[in-house]
Amino acid sequence: MRSIEISNLLANQNTTNDTLHQLFDAVDAISVQGYDEDRRVIYWNTGSEKLYGFSKEEALGTKIEKLIIPSPMSEFVIAAHQDWVKKDIEIPASEMTLCDKDGNDVNVFSSHVMFTNQFNKRQMYCVDINLTDIRYAQAQVVFKEHMLETIFEATPDLFFLMEKNGTIIDYYASNHKNLYIPSEELVGSAISETLPLDISKVFSRYLKKVINHTGALTFEYELTLPHGVTYFEARMSYLPQYEQILTIVRDITEQHKSSEVIRRHAYYDALTLLPNRFLALDRLSQMILDSERNNQNIAVFFLDLDDFKKVNDSLGHEVGDKLLIESALRLTRAMRKEDTIGRLGGDEFIVLSQGLNDKNDPLTIAENLLQVFREPFQIDGRELILTLSIGIAISPENGQTVSDLLRNADTAMYQAKSLGRNAYSFFTKEMNTAMIRRFEIEEQMHGALERDEFEVYYQPQFDVKTNKVIGAEALLRWHSAALGNITPDEFIPIAEHTGLIIAIGEFVVKQALNFLNEWQHVDNEQYTIAVNLSPRQFRDKNLIDFIKGSLEQAQIKASSLELEITEGVLMTGQAYISDALQALQQLGIKLSMDDFGTGYSSLSYLRQYDFDVLKIDRSFINGITKNKEDRDLVKASIAIAHSLGLDVVAEGVEITEQLTILEELGCDYVQGYYFSKPLPADRFIDFSSHYKQINEA
Ligand code: C2E
Ligand code: CA
Ligand code: CA
Repeated sequence: MRSIEISNLLANQNTTNDTLHQLFDAVDAISVQGYDEDRRVIYWNTGSEKLYGFSKEEALGTKIEKLIIPSPMSEFVIAAHQDWVKKDIEIPASEMTLCDKDGNDVNVFSSHVMFTNQFNKRQMYCVDINLTDIRYAQAQVVFKEHMLETIFEATPDLFFLMEKNGTIIDYYASNHKNLYIPSEELVGSAISETLPLDISKVFSRYLKKVINHTGALTFEYELTLPHGVTYFEARMSYLPQYEQILTIVRDITEQHKSSEVIRRHAYYDALTLLPNRFLALDRLSQMILDSERNNQNIAVFFLDLDDFKKVNDSLGHEVGDKLLIESALRLTRAMRKEDTIGRLGGDEFIVLSQGLNDKNDPLTIAENLLQVFREPFQIDGRELILTLSIGIAISPENGQTVSDLLRNADTAMYQAKSLGRNAYSFFTKEMNTAMIRRFEIEEQMHGALERDEFEVYYQPQFDVKTNKVIGAEALLRWHSAALGNITPDEFIPIAEHTGLIIAIGEFVVKQALNFLNEWQHVDNEQYTIAVNLSPRQFRDKNLIDFIKGSLEQAQIKASSLELEITEGVLMTGQAYISDALQALQQLGIKLSMDDFGTGYSSLSYLRQYDFDVLKIDRSFINGITKNKEDRDLVKASIAIAHSLGLDVVAEGVEITEQLTILEELGCDYVQGYYFSKPLPADRFIDFSSHYKQINEA
């Protein structure tokens, strides 16, 4: 019944608006609905089907509030519609949120009209424009703006949007302290006006460049800001579609600092903060290039602190470090700003000076350098005196490469050391020859033991009172196949330096003990054999065990072995040395102080260590017939030795007069060319037997 009524009604109503309906049906982007006085759908176009999801069939005859009005709104809509129908109160067009068939919100801009048809019935038409997409797009824009702002806020970088000519259009700066001018002045200013002149020039250059460049251009610069020097990295890109330039500026101070730290580590000495070996030598190679161009001289000063090792060993590394730091400061003070002072390592420094006008300049510099060390060092309330040895090489005369100059300055430094320290020495041709010789010796020494080139000679020692042979000193000889005979004075220091002295020293001990065994059997006597020990041999942990083993193997009593050491051994004051000396003593081995009278001849060593024998140096024996001083010194030495319970050996006795005086002075034993030169083992045994026969006869 009801459905017939409706369809009649609809049929009646539809006729009126046919043409309009055709038009609405064609425009499906807009939703058009028609309602009767009871708000039942009388018209529902395709646009409404699309927007609200109800088909025409579903919609027709259904009341609006049952279709697209969300329930909280229905009462209000019904009332508004009644007001319009009855009292002509129009429902204004507005944005509203309706709902579709699935219950989803549908945002629309809804306009309404009221018709009265030919049957005098009121009809409301609604025209709804979908706002959902627009709303979404608007929301997206707001969201994106918000997001960008959050990003800018969270990013320490500065953003500048500029016109092609550099005028700032917009900027973002979360951190205003990195702006060179107040932020209010930024917009409208040219970027070049916001920076100091030198940096604005850089910006201008890049502004020009970026326009013809795809991708970003990056450059770095630094600014002095109230909070300190700040390093920046700028990335500039051109946005061709807007004809604008975007520049992002990043504070890279931290990064800069850490790369600076790395650079410092790589090029500077951590202790003294001076350029390290690497950087100093790099500067030297740069100077060599420059000087070739300008025809200038370079002076290379190789500096070595005298006896620094002793300080380090006796006073500790901390004091040593402080001395090095203070030395670096003094050297820096002594030189010009443009000179390079570097630490090569340990207690070695290098000073490089370029552009010297006067031939005497290097000499003046060297004297200055020695001068700044004259003043004692004050370290931890202690006054220390430290001296320098300086070797000087001048480019181009003494070399035109880094390695030549360094090596030659080093050679000259050794020369300065041998001059008695606290001295400087220029590199000369003779030094070069000596250096080459040293190098050859070192080269030949490797393998010399294996090639059997070493031979131990023996020099007899005599009792002054009885004239009897009491023993011998073992003295090493080297018959080098390549270089001929080399004296121990020449090769022993090199063997010390290279460490070969350990193996060579062991060879001497073995040879000497076996020799003694043979000699004692031949002569049927007890003798002592004296063997020289170098400082370096004391650093050998195996020394004591080796000597003990060798004594057993050769069947020699410990008291028949005498070890000769020089003051140099004791001066280092190291614990392992006194430990070794004590251990040797406990084995029953005799200790002899060699070369007494030279060096420091500190009597305290004689008291401190338990020596058995004192050997007075040859140079004094040589002098006793000629001057009173030497005679007095020998006399005093003998007296002191005897008072401490030591026997005295005089070495280098060459003539009768010397022997006579030594006898008068109470010397116990003698050794020297007067009796015999050092002899090879077989010849020595012949000599000894022969001498014994004559002496006993
Ligand atoms: P040194 O221990 O002072 O040895 C004494 C040096 O004086 C020996 O020189 C010896 O040949 C020499 N000589 C002895 N009597 C006379 C003399 O009447 N007149 C002159 N003019 N010289 C005399 P040599 O053999 O050339 O040794 C030189 C230095 O080499 C030694 O001085 C010693 O310090 C070192 N040396 C030699 N052999 C060894 C060794 O096996 N080990 C170590 N560590 N050093 C050694
Ligand atoms: Ca000796
Ligand atoms: Ca000696």
